[in-house]
Amino acid sequence: MGLDLLIRNGTIVDGSGAPRYQGDVGIRQGRIVEMGRVGSTAERIVDADGLVVAPGFVDGHTHMDAQVAWDPLGSCSCWHGVTTVIMGNCGFALAPCPPGEREWFARCLTAVEDIPTEAMLAGIDWTWETFPEYLATVDRLPKAINYGAYIGHSALRMYVMGKRALHEIATEADLDRMTAAVKEAIRAGAMGFSSSRAHTHVTPDNTPVASRIADWTEIDRLVGAMAELGAGIFQVGPDISGGRAQRAFLARLKQVAVESGRPVMFGTIASRQGDDPNPWTYQLDYLDECATAGARVWGQTSTRSINAIFSLKSYLPFDVLPAWRELRRLPLTEQKQRLADPETRRRLIAAEATMKPRDNVLQGGGAATTDPRKPDYHNLYAMKDVEWNDPTVAELAAARQQHPVDVMIDLALANDDQVFVQPLVNEQPDQVLGMLRHPRTLATFSDSGAHVCQEMGSSLQTHMLSYWVRARQAFTLEEAVRKLSFDNASAWGLADRGLLREGYRADLVLFDAARVKPSMPTVEMDLPGGARRLVQKAEGIAATIVNGEVTLENGRPTGRLPGVVLRGPSAAR
Ligand SMILES: [Zn+2]
Repeated sequence: MGLDLLIRNGTIVDGSGAPRYQGDVGIRQGRIVEMGRVGSTAERIVDADGLVVAPGFVDGHTHMDAQVAWDPLGSCSCWHGVTTVIMGNCGFALAPCPPGEREWFARCLTAVEDIPTEAMLAGIDWTWETFPEYLATVDRLPKAINYGAYIGHSALRMYVMGKRALHEIATEADLDRMTAAVKEAIRAGAMGFSSSRAHTHVTPDNTPVASRIADWTEIDRLVGAMAELGAGIFQVGPDISGGRAQRAFLARLKQVAVESGRPVMFGTIASRQGDDPNPWTYQLDYLDECATAGARVWGQTSTRSINAIFSLKSYLPFDVLPAWRELRRLPLTEQKQRLADPETRRRLIAAEATMKPRDNVLQGGGAATTDPRKPDYHNLYAMKDVEWNDPTVAELAAARQQHPVDVMIDLALANDDQVFVQPLVNEQPDQVLGMLRHPRTLATFSDSGAHVCQEMGSSLQTHMLSYWVRARQAFTLEEAVRKLSFDNASAWGLADRGLLREGYRADLVLFDAARVKPSMPTVEMDLPGGARRLVQKAEGIAATIVNGEVTLENGRPTGRLPGVVLRGPSAAR
């Protein structure tokens, strides 16, 4: 029998970490059926000469829950070699949700994840109520990548408890309904249950999100519901306030992991911010201690700094100031005219002195853009390329003998797309490397689909390949590909993805190892209703293949939409 697709004469990096070799990959009915030197005929042949042929990348930490309804491509992850994402992280989700409360749920998602409410109300055909109904909807939606989803604690709590979810401890009856819903979700194919204890996660009224109101007994019960079924991962947005609070959080989380026996995942980050920050290595030692205690705990790590991103077209740190607010509401051309006027400029620069003083509170991408402190110009970079060596605004101000705000206005006037980057965490490349090298961390944490105008983490895979492999030579290509594909697929229990093997699903990425890198981020008005978001594409990726079909060729969509819903292991039982 002939092949549907033959990838010929590529450099195969199969995801296992094994050394590369020249070869072909034969694909039939969505699966890899032949490898090595393939003689069979094929309906379509892709010449991969000079290209690496690798398993498609798996990103386990995204917030695509809303976007999946209007963006069949799965951007911006799809542009970076990603073929599978897991969504519903940190407890934030659009299901379960009672029909009368859709706008409330949407507004909560806007407050935490900067997904515009208008985009959600305009772009979603919101027909589901329960988690299984949501998953069935995602199943029917056209999509170019594969999706798995958690049931999210904040959504679940709001569904069961209504407005009480935001300030009350759950009653026995609430807990019964929540545990039943968790079991229903796991049986329907949820990858697990997600929650958050992070102080950066707040409602539109700046109060803690619903999951943060829950006590640990509630967490024990809900993770325990998964333990009863013997399935499901517990993912949690960690307490990142530093000091004793963070240590207490981690100690209690370890107890959940040991007692439930379920795999646990949380974001590991390195940061100078927060009161009394624990050393970044604290979390890595902790991962080992958990393993010694009999628990399976993973740290989710990005491959670089997690940043608040500013630009003329999106947020600037000064937008909240009365002197700036009026100007920033104007069309871009008018803003630029006024910014060029010396008198206006003097006023705008003077206003900066009245900003809230800096403190040590770690602000997520949300607060850093919507409630900013006076910028630390030594930690605010004027992005010039994607090589992680940009000048700080402070350095430019000293060199030009200008006020930092003056520098930022000049750069923005010269280039509408000038981006300013404020690292929130992972400021030091070598600390990121230390985390990535730890065997119990996973290279995943894009937050794709969220913070649409505040952060841009979707390029973590191409950054891994261009920066850590090519520029720094900190990982071999084989090691990096394994981290982005097989390691993640294994952690999420995706048994037939993440490797190039006969019998495995044909999710592949073909790239030029000498050229692959993220492109510069830009601000586009391409969300439903015309809302803006940051967009970051990539260079050097020749083709992306999902379930045996080519979805992207040199960054251009082919129109094929072969993505599927991935259900957790207990769905079949
Ligand atoms: Zn998250």
